[in-house]
Amino acid sequence: MTPADKNCASDADPSALSMQEALDKILALCVAPDQTETIDVKAAMHRISASDTFADISVPPFRSSAMDGYAFKHAQGEDALTIIGSSLAGHPFNGDLPDNSCIRITTGACVPDDADTVVMQENTTVSSGNLYINKLPVHGFNVRDIGSDQAAGTLLLSAGTELKAPELALLASHGFNKVTVRKPLTVSVISTGDELHDAVHEPGANLKPGGIYDANRALLINMLQSPAVQCTDSGICADSLDAITAAFDQTVDSDLVITSGGVSVGDADFVKDALAKTGEIAMWKIAMKPGRPLTFGKLSSGAVFFGLPGNPVSAAITCLFFVKPALRSMQGLGSKELITVEAIIDSNLNKLPGRIEYQRGVLAGNAADGYRVSTTGLQDSHVLTSLHKANCLIELPLDSQGAEAGSTVTVIPFSAIGDNRI
Ligand code: AMP
Ligand code: MG
Repeated sequence: MTPADKNCASDADPSALSMQEALDKILALCVAPDQTETIDVKAAMHRISASDTFADISVPPFRSSAMDGYAFKHAQGEDALTIIGSSLAGHPFNGDLPDNSCIRITTGACVPDDADTVVMQENTTVSSGNLYINKLPVHGFNVRDIGSDQAAGTLLLSAGTELKAPELALLASHGFNKVTVRKPLTVSVISTGDELHDAVHEPGANLKPGGIYDANRALLINMLQSPAVQCTDSGICADSLDAITAAFDQTVDSDLVITSGGVSVGDADFVKDALAKTGEIAMWKIAMKPGRPLTFGKLSSGAVFFGLPGNPVSAAITCLFFVKPALRSMQGLGSKELITVEAIIDSNLNKLPGRIEYQRGVLAGNAADGYRVSTTGLQDSHVLTSLHKANCLIELPLDSQGAEAGSTVTVIPFSAIGDNRI
């Protein structure tokens, strides 16, 4: 092979940024807007807390029993104990516990101050009003201390926490019915391309020659939409500088504007020019596949702007690796650790060196027996079915020339990166 041949067999572009370099530049421009609102806890699923919340009360608020059984003084546990009453959940025992006595107690009920241990009822015998402990628990057993979940005055939830079921339950368990959250981010999603048709307005197989249905708005909106991120479908935009500029003008209320298509160097690629006309532009090649061209910047409205590549798989992968972290940053959330696993690939994977590559795969197996991964087949960036079939991305390093069947590859499960959206 001559050096010239070798050059042909590389996909490297010296002007391309690494993914980390691109992400660093993006995150530097993505600051969280500071608008907040106070809403009902029961309506706050997936919203982002905007302030630290401190516990007003201790949970549990009293010493409570972890078992159905009997509360007693441990030092007297070898003796017969007179059962003098009961403490049921919500109905505490009122009174003192004289020596050699005990009370019946249920799970979650208040343990009297002068009892120190609860024995589970399965380890006892009751006869003629007396309790006999067959198996003495250790001192203090089955008694939940005050504040053993969370003590009054301590930090319950920090600002910048996504509120999910456990967090909402935590707030509810401390008596909060309101929570202060960040206002939802507003995102406009625009598809560009004269070839694009909208299945909503032109359903059925009625395409004109050269036309295709728009996939990217459905893809991107559904990857991003959540209670904390309100996406607006801003339609399809023609391939002209005027049309794209006019579309940008419609997005003044958005925190983030995303287009797809029109970011290469083709005759109909006007997104970069439109951005240069209205805002600040950075157009990069990123040493990744799919998704080499990416336009990023700010519109004159102040909105953060992403011009994603047009091919749906490229749009999806760049959305996962760049738009989602940008949105996290704009919500005051920390970066998400990327969890990867090592898996054995079951067939040869082809690749040219020069770009990190994310091929779509199907991951199976488990940590004990090992993970296996197989390809979804054709990996071209227009092949949306490769995303549909996949549950993971197979990450092939920049310099690799693919992977041989039976070798170990690094895999990113979609569940670790995509919030179960893809
Ligand atoms: P472009 O980046 O505009 O050159 O587009 C690259 C490829 O992606 C072309 O084959 C386009 O037809 C296709 N494409 C662009 N936008 C979309 C879209 N919204 N849905 C499906 N395919 C698209
Ligand atoms: Mg186009």
